[in-house]
Amino acid sequence: MEDNRTFIPYGRQHITDEDIAAVTEALRSDWLTTGPRVGEFEQAVCTFTGARHGVAVCNGTAALHAAMFALGIGPGDEVIVSPMTFAATANCVLYMGGTPVFADVEPDTLLIDPQAVRARITPATRAIIGVDYAGQPCDWDALRAVADEAGVALVADGCHAIGGTYRGRSVGTLADMTVFSFHPVKHVATGEGGMIMTDSDLLAARLRLFRNHGISTDHRQREAAGSWAYDMVELGYNYRITDIQCALGISQLKRLPHSLERRRAIAAQYDAAFAGTDISPCTQRPDRLNAYHLYAVQLPEKTDRAAAFAHMRANKIGVNVHYIPVHLHPYYRTRLGTAEGLCPVAEKAYNHLLSLPMFPELSEADVDRVVKTLLDARGA
Ligand SMILES: *Cc1c(COP(=O)(O)O)cnc(C)c1O
Repeated sequence: MEDNRTFIPYGRQHITDEDIAAVTEALRSDWLTTGPRVGEFEQAVCTFTGARHGVAVCNGTAALHAAMFALGIGPGDEVIVSPMTFAATANCVLYMGGTPVFADVEPDTLLIDPQAVRARITPATRAIIGVDYAGQPCDWDALRAVADEAGVALVADGCHAIGGTYRGRSVGTLADMTVFSFHPVKHVATGEGGMIMTDSDLLAARLRLFRNHGISTDHRQREAAGSWAYDMVELGYNYRITDIQCALGISQLKRLPHSLERRRAIAAQYDAAFAGTDISPCTQRPDRLNAYHLYAVQLPEKTDRAAAFAHMRANKIGVNVHYIPVHLHPYYRTRLGTAEGLCPVAEKAYNHLLSLPMFPELSEADVDRVVKTLLDARGA
């Protein structure tokens, strides 16, 4: 029998005619790469988050790399990171020659545990990177207390969490720097893209240097000054984002409030459906607003996760697993000698994790289908 149910992916971008018109306008303009739309996009994200500076770059990974450069991380420096994240969060420390040190997560939220962070502080610690896993902000006040005690910087990997809040304050203003990604599965898509938010003039200046080869003026400034002279003062990269991408970002950002509302409604529907079952969504702390990039659940111990995953996929539901703890990747095992037992809470959670479809265009009927299929899958 033909299976004509539609495939439901775990995440999907949404492109409107308005988005296409904005990109077309950029293509017809004088600027393809760094032009007026870069600053306009940065300003729009500043307005949305309340941060003073936004520095747009070519992807979220470059944004993390730039943040580590801005802090001057180098050989001998340790940076404490969450293992429950995409590898880029820790890789950025290695790019600068520093050493990522993994601190375990809380079992119910999968957010980095401030007590575990405190236990990993050494005289070599220079920074802490918290990940707002799935879209829920970390306990940033507790992390700030640990960071201040140790005299180290605080960085937020906010790639899941634009639009989230903690105790009434917006993601983008909770750490010394906050990194966003504009990959299509994230809230705002630019194709590839990223941004670092900061209130510090000094850090913003270093981030701008880094994205443009370490050169202290950009071509628009030189043109305005009528001069050919430029100074390369640091070793930077070409991590620039294009005006074409920023045109898309500006247009997408206008729909962010609506899409956050939809994500929260979908999460509420899942929450209600799983209440009283043995499926455990991440605990939502009452002092935070979740941006729901992901809707992750932990399956009961008795359930074979691989079988449940296969059952969902066979029923055309694109579940995923976020994340394989970073310290368990072969590169980390070989390079840093990390192994099972380093972060037991993250490792145990990983064995039972499943990310369910979460994107604004998901319908109520789609969510019902996901829930019913998962309730079947877990007993199977
Ligand atoms: C997506 C993501 C990144 C990397 O962003 P890219 O834009 O894909 O480079 C980093 N950290 C987390 C937690 C992410 O989800």
